[in-house]
Amino acid sequence: MIKANSYTFKILRYDAKEPGSRPRFATYRIKVIPGLTVLAVLIRIRDEIDGTLSFRCSCRSAVCGSCAMVINGKIDLACRTQVAIFDTDTIILEPLPNFEVIRDLVVDLTPFWQMYEKVQPYLIRHSPNPEKEIPQSEEERRRIDQYVNCILCACCYGACPVLARDPNYMGPAAAAKLERFVLDSRDERPADVLESVNDEHGVWGCDTVFRCIDACPKDVRPTDAFVGLRQEIVKKRFQKMLGKAKDEA
Ligand code: SF4
Repeated sequence: MIKANSYTFKILRYDAKEPGSRPRFATYRIKVIPGLTVLAVLIRIRDEIDGTLSFRCSCRSAVCGSCAMVINGKIDLACRTQVAIFDTDTIILEPLPNFEVIRDLVVDLTPFWQMYEKVQPYLIRHSPNPEKEIPQSEEERRRIDQYVNCILCACCYGACPVLARDPNYMGPAAAAKLERFVLDSRDERPADVLESVNDEHGVWGCDTVFRCIDACPKDVRPTDAFVGLRQEIVKKRFQKMLGKAKDEA
């Protein structure tokens, strides 16, 4: 028989809609068998102990990106974090930082989606639509591989120290998505699109401390995207200056 160990789960509870509500830790003592995830425990607490506990989840397979939270001080997905990996029998769960809390572990992701929408996260083309798909070489596909893996979980957004002090900053996920399309051989967005992120709230705001990379559950490296976008902006500026100088000569 598999032996279950007892764990204490301390979950930060808060309800923005309840007048006078103050953040407080609620404590639950749960028996957990090896292999059980933090998300499985949360579902059990909600279904069997306290139906008011709020959190987001869907796929339980680290695909939908819904259950991002802080687990014993580290940002991760609850569905891919096994309780038994911790050297302690106390598990502390808190909502993602850099967001307003709606209720318990549910945060308001509106700023994340607003930044995402701003970078136009889709293919932009001006050429006539081809009759079939647009082929890509293996090398062309490889260039965007890591960025395609993004599941929009917002772990990187929660981990970003720049967003903690500048809510107008575009954030790591939006940069990764923009770079994904800038590098895509099929995309034809005009060069001046990058001008919208050519300031301290855009690509030049990154502190390059790699917290987004540490937090990403899908091995996306948003810091690489910032470097790539900065290079692209400088290259485009340089090309423009050269073109102007040639016209004047
Ligand atoms: Fe999540 Fe990684 Fe995408 Fe950020 S880059 S939203 S951490 S998958």
